[in-house]
Amino acid sequence: MEALARPRIRGEGTAEAEWSAWPGLAQLPRIDARTLVPRGARAVVVAPHPDDEVLSVGGLLAQLGDGGHEGDEGDEDNDGDHGARVAVIAVTDGTASHVGSTEWPVERLARQRPRESRLALRRLGLSVKPVRLGLPDGGVAAQRGTLAARLVSLLRPRDVVFTTWRGDGHPDHEATGQACALAAASAGARLVEVPVWGWHWARPGDARMPWRHAVRVDLDEDAVRRKRAAVQAFASQLRRDASTGAGPVLRSTTVARAQRPYEVMFL
Ligand SMILES: [Zn+2]
Repeated sequence: MEALARPRIRGEGTAEAEWSAWPGLAQLPRIDARTLVPRGARAVVVAPHPDDEVLSVGGLLAQLGDGGHEGDEGDEDNDGDHGARVAVIAVTDGTASHVGSTEWPVERLARQRPRESRLALRRLGLSVKPVRLGLPDGGVAAQRGTLAARLVSLLRPRDVVFTTWRGDGHPDHEATGQACALAAASAGARLVEVPVWGWHWARPGDARMPWRHAVRVDLDEDAVRRKRAAVQAFASQLRRDASTGAGPVLRSTTVARAQRPYEVMFL
């Protein structure tokens, strides 16, 4: 998974119909949530931006949770007997999503995006509160060493760390994946990388995606429904910005992809 020339992220990206028509995804080896995160282990999701935790492994988290927090209230830890332990680490607060916007200035995004993430996690059935590291959105690569050190202090030996793939094509996603790889190795935790932007720029069978490391977690109906609802929590990312004329940050292709009854990760 070495970094080659970074692929370009532009336009709407590869349509979900194109991915779903490709037999390669149906043929991937299956792994279930409990095998990936055994009882007693903790799933730690490290998200470069608020929404990556849901886009990458929202369905898996819904299957690991105890499903008992349907509403938008509640703040107890989900360390109970039923659900797995889940922790979410927010690397940035995602304040660079609307550059030049008067509708979504940085201060508003700094309040809104973490709030959206908490709502999304509750919709997944989790009452976990993300640990916010407050690194600059768009500037994670310059702080990769700092991030790795912060992560080492937060990780435990049996954790399973889920983060964005080191070849994902977005600088923050790649730097977060790299910092997680260093930190997981140092802490004795397991690393699982998940493509997010990769689905946008890659095409079925694309040789730039490490398919031989890929596994697929099939999601039950409840997890699919919860993930779909969780994506809708990211209201700031789903609307056209009247002040700049920019379309929604989350493209329709991304929203369609988040309705898949499975998630693909690289082991
Ligand atoms: Zn992101």
